[in-house]
Amino acid sequence: MKAKVDAGTCTGCGVCADVCPEVFKMGDDSLSQVIVPVVPKEAEDRCRDAASQCPVTCIEITEG
Ligand code: SF4
Repeated sequence: MKAKVDAGTCTGCGVCADVCPEVFKMGDDSLSQVIVPVVPKEAEDRCRDAASQCPVTCIEITEG
């Protein structure tokens, strides 16, 4: 599984980094960054939760 953030849409609310810190981190520009090339197996559920809780739905999950 991979995760991607659309930086043009992210508002920097920080929800994703709270829900799944293994994958998302708030950058110096106050926008969310994906910090791993592949989502660790044990973080997949939290990563999906983060995507579904993003208020502007700018997290794209690619399964596989
Ligand atoms: S939850 Fe969405 S809008 Fe909020 S910081 Fe994460 S990617 Fe950006």
